[in-house]
Amino acid sequence: MSMTSYSIAVLPGDGIGIEVTAAALQVLQALAPRIGRRFLTVQHPAGAQHYLDSGVALPEATLDACRAADAILFGAMGLPHVRGEDGTEIIPQLDIRFALDLYAGVRPIRSFAGLPGPLADPRAAGIDLVLVRESTEGLFHARGRGRIEGSGDPQAAYDTMKITRAGTARVCDFALRLAQRRKAQGKPGRVTNVDKANVFASMAFWRQVFNERAAAFPDVPTEHAYVDAMALNLVMKPWAYDVLVTENMFGDILSDLIAALAGGMGMAPSADIGDRYALFQPAHGTAPDIAGQGLANPSAMLLSAAMMLDWLAERHGDNALADGARAIERALEQAFASGAARPREFGGSSSTADIVREVLARL
Ligand code: ATP
Repeated sequence: MSMTSYSIAVLPGDGIGIEVTAAALQVLQALAPRIGRRFLTVQHPAGAQHYLDSGVALPEATLDACRAADAILFGAMGLPHVRGEDGTEIIPQLDIRFALDLYAGVRPIRSFAGLPGPLADPRAAGIDLVLVRESTEGLFHARGRGRIEGSGDPQAAYDTMKITRAGTARVCDFALRLAQRRKAQGKPGRVTNVDKANVFASMAFWRQVFNERAAAFPDVPTEHAYVDAMALNLVMKPWAYDVLVTENMFGDILSDLIAALAGGMGMAPSADIGDRYALFQPAHGTAPDIAGQGLANPSAMLLSAAMMLDWLAERHGDNALADGARAIERALEQAFASGAARPREFGGSSSTADIVREVLARL
């Protein structure tokens, strides 16, 4: 009898992307026989080093492989000294988001027993929230389209924020459905819409579309917050939030803020999800300062792999995959709670390999 298998396009990328990807593949392959599934993982080139080697950062063949696979697992890409001809960084992850229409940037964050977070308030032990960032328009629409006035002697520069009804509605729907699923898991299931509707026409329009979509989900409690107040409240009382939804640039900034709440980039997983495709990657970059030394905390990547299993489970109605996701999360939780593993950002001395070993022992 053939075992149900899933094809996963793996893009390790650059720097610690390569190291944390190897860690995730080790854990996924150990998990597979325990849940009676097979993961057919194939690695594909892309990234800053590949750009240096070949002149192309994101080969068409790699994009095709991403489209053909059941899911995409992505390390991190970009190296500080590698720039395109116009001087901007090589960031194929943005190109993939647009090419595959991955409109929902999903950034969950929670506290782990045994790992000290940056907040002294004991309620910080209850942080468990998800930021949903619109990823295909907003201010990032301006990428590559910025306008500079005054040729030769620039006097002004303009980047335009684009908010569309369709683009806003689909990401709001995503957040509202996510809240319903979280409610079913015993979580609050509430959505906080984060905008700047008091100042910008684009943001007032965003809020109007959010309200229209929220009306179609009468079971989901919602509220509004201005992004500046949200920056304050995410430090003062992050435990009070469940699902947040926001524009691309606001989400870019707030997702780093919430990563800090969980103790740093090494603890922050993410998913970029569209209607057809989904990509899972740690929220951190390639960390050139620690790359190649085996010191990267693989937790963000392992939690991203768990998110991938949850997404596949729902898409294919395959509960064994959701069991696999819980097994990864539990193993990490136990490794930290027992004190067997403590990442270096938390003052510990666990290497990447140490953390993987402790997770494998608890799968
Ligand atoms: P990018 O612009 O791609 O996000 P960056 O250099 O601004 O790149 P990161 O690569 O995420 O940001 O690194 C930020 C800091 O966090 C660095 O000091 C890095 O060493 C640290 N860091 C990031 N990821 C990890 C990780 N998995 N484990 C340990 N430290 C990490």
